[in-house]
Amino acid sequence: MRKQKQGVTILGATGTIGVNTLDVISRHPDRYSVVALTANQNIERLLEQCLQWRPAYAVVADETRVQDFAALVSNAGLELEILSGVDGLSRVCQLPETDAVMAGIVGAAGLLPTLAAAQAGKRVLLANKEALVMSGDLFMQAVKDHGAELLPIDSEHNAIFQCIPDDLQHSTLDDQGIKHILLTASGGPFRQFTAAQLAEVTPEQACAHPNWVMGRKISVDSATMMNKGLEIIEACWLFNTTPDRIRVVVHPQSVIHSMVAYADGSVLAQMGNPDMRTPIAHAMAWPQRMRSGVADLDFFTTAALTFEPPDLERFPCLGLAREACELGGTATTTLNAANEIAVEAFLQRQISFIAIPEVISHCLAQADHHPGACLDEILAADKVARETATRYIATQYSRARV
Ligand code: NDP
Repeated sequence: MRKQKQGVTILGATGTIGVNTLDVISRHPDRYSVVALTANQNIERLLEQCLQWRPAYAVVADETRVQDFAALVSNAGLELEILSGVDGLSRVCQLPETDAVMAGIVGAAGLLPTLAAAQAGKRVLLANKEALVMSGDLFMQAVKDHGAELLPIDSEHNAIFQCIPDDLQHSTLDDQGIKHILLTASGGPFRQFTAAQLAEVTPEQACAHPNWVMGRKISVDSATMMNKGLEIIEACWLFNTTPDRIRVVVHPQSVIHSMVAYADGSVLAQMGNPDMRTPIAHAMAWPQRMRSGVADLDFFTTAALTFEPPDLERFPCLGLAREACELGGTATTTLNAANEIAVEAFLQRQISFIAIPEVISHCLAQADHHPGACLDEILAADKVARETATRYIATQYSRARV
């Protein structure tokens, strides 16, 4: 018999994806209950969320903030179990009362808990694309071995999922008559910037996305177009294909979230206002549909829909991601780790915007790539790439350029 309410654990509850997930849940109190909420450092927001949602568990990933959080909880008279660190994150993903896990942590920190959710056979709502980029083979195997359900939250992958009739883990694009996948990209805030202008952009400009409200890291990834590169890798794993079958189409209005081109000439597109609550509600309710709070798409006020090819010269991160995807194995782990270090250095004004691809390119050239790596090899490749990137930044860009 179907349980009355689905228990949801939200990894990264204090972030943009987490907050949007809680907004969707607030519209369906009859369908969902919140089992656990997690944060890294933002314990004030976590407390507010716990007061509103009354989860049985809260996890503070940053061990240095746990005592302070415990004091806030005690002062507020809240009763809940407080856990910490990666073990705490993984544990709340595996609780029997957790049916679905929203993987909304940013970056490599999301890998182990998201993997734990897959290993516990949960419904994994995957926003944390870095987990797949780092360890696609291992992650997909865990999903298969443990009977987990993997549903994409990234708006593009969720759109593709909606345009494909069958589970591609058990068939191929050719079996389903698909010629290629068209991954749309807004082009980010610097789509029309010249190379000279790109050299001068600031973190504030990079974080001001024209269409989407997102966390700082993914905003910078969107501005460099590394986000689209990571999404090519993510799509290869989710849809059992290779990068040559994925084309990037720049579509600045972000109304079409991606498309699938079929052998008979049909192209199916998924459209909607750019609001993450649509893919979140879709994946949570799948195979049913439910309200998300997103306004209807109004075709009469929507601007013209335009399309253009990406410019790989001004946005070299896209080419670097394709290169890593073709190399396979730990090359994508290296790409992801180097990108995380370079983006953080840019946000800290240690390097310029155009230095981000330089750092990643250096790390890819330096690394030994292991095909079909196990978890230890993946974590080792991640560590080496972070060290290489940090060293390179320290030696090549010793003074702030932004
Ligand atoms: P945010 O920066 O807004 O939120 C990140 C969340 O992760 C916060 O809850 C943060 O906690 C937590 N976190 C950060 N570092 C750690 C850590 N070391 N250990 C545990 N938790 C940590 O990011 P977004 O919500 O924008 O993005 C989350 C993920 O979703 C990313 O992988 C992104 O690529 C993906 N995504 C996001 C989209 C969007 O529209 N925002 C769209 C598609 C995908 P705290 O607040 O306490 O620091």
